Amino acid sequence: MSTVAIRNVHKSYGALPVIHCVSLDISDGEFVALVGPSGCGKSTLLRMIAGLEDITAGDIVIADRVVNDIAPKDRDIAMVFQNYALYPHMNVRQNMGFALRQRKISRDEIDRRVMNAARILGLEQLLDRKPRALSGGQRQRVAMGRAIVRNPNVFLFDEPLSNLDAKLRVQMRSELKELHQRLGVTTVYVTHDQIEAMTLADRVVVMNGGIVEQMGPPLELYDKPMSLFVAAFIGSPP
Ligand code: ADP
Ligand code: MG
Repeated sequence: MSTVAIRNVHKSYGALPVIHCVSLDISDGEFVALVGPSGCGKSTLLRMIAGLEDITAGDIVIADRVVNDIAPKDRDIAMVFQNYALYPHMNVRQNMGFALRQRKISRDEIDRRVMNAARILGLEQLLDRKPRALSGGQRQRVAMGRAIVRNPNVFLFDEPLSNLDAKLRVQMRSELKELHQRLGVTTVYVTHDQIEAMTLADRVVVMNGGIVEQMGPPLELYDKPMSLFVAAFIGSPP
């Protein structure tokens, strides 16, 4: 079953086309990475799945429902951005529960979900801390916690690790992989770092100038790049 389907999607900003007829089926539980150079349209595509950007033509389908006209909060998705702004005046517990408090979910249920996410992410000891008293990696975990507590069908990540230093990035990469193995939530993950994509994803989508150059499992992209662009991109240093 495909959980997310992108069907013949086009996007223009004014007269400027930035996504040209992209189609992609993402199956239940799959981890798909969108990679490509800066400006190739990765974030735009992700934001269209999230509902943060209008679609110029085509359809986005989530769990068999065309969501083109559905508001982001009703799409059953949770997004983690590169610049994950935590609320500075709230502690970790409040940051993680905040979105749920806006949704008439009971206090007990919110506590239960926050505790569960904290356990998964190793944040149990930090629940009463404010963001300024956390390390970069801990903040990133809180940002993920905010997504996990929503129990979404789909996680959308836009370069969630790119603000971290190299060592932490590698560590968080393996934490993300574990998290996905544990929760099995369908994930669309944007990164310009092809190594990150190859390590994490079941399938990698290589974009270039608003089109999909090639998609396939990491090994297939290594072994059989279908264009010079893909070969150069996959083979280049991060
Ligand atoms: P990526 O995430 O791959 O770096 P983006 O999706 O952010 O690329 O951008 C794709 C193209 O769309 C770029 O040429 C960018 O300048 C343009 N673009 C992105 N957002 C806007 C916007 N709000 N208005 C006009 N052009 C935009
Ligand atoms: Mg981007």
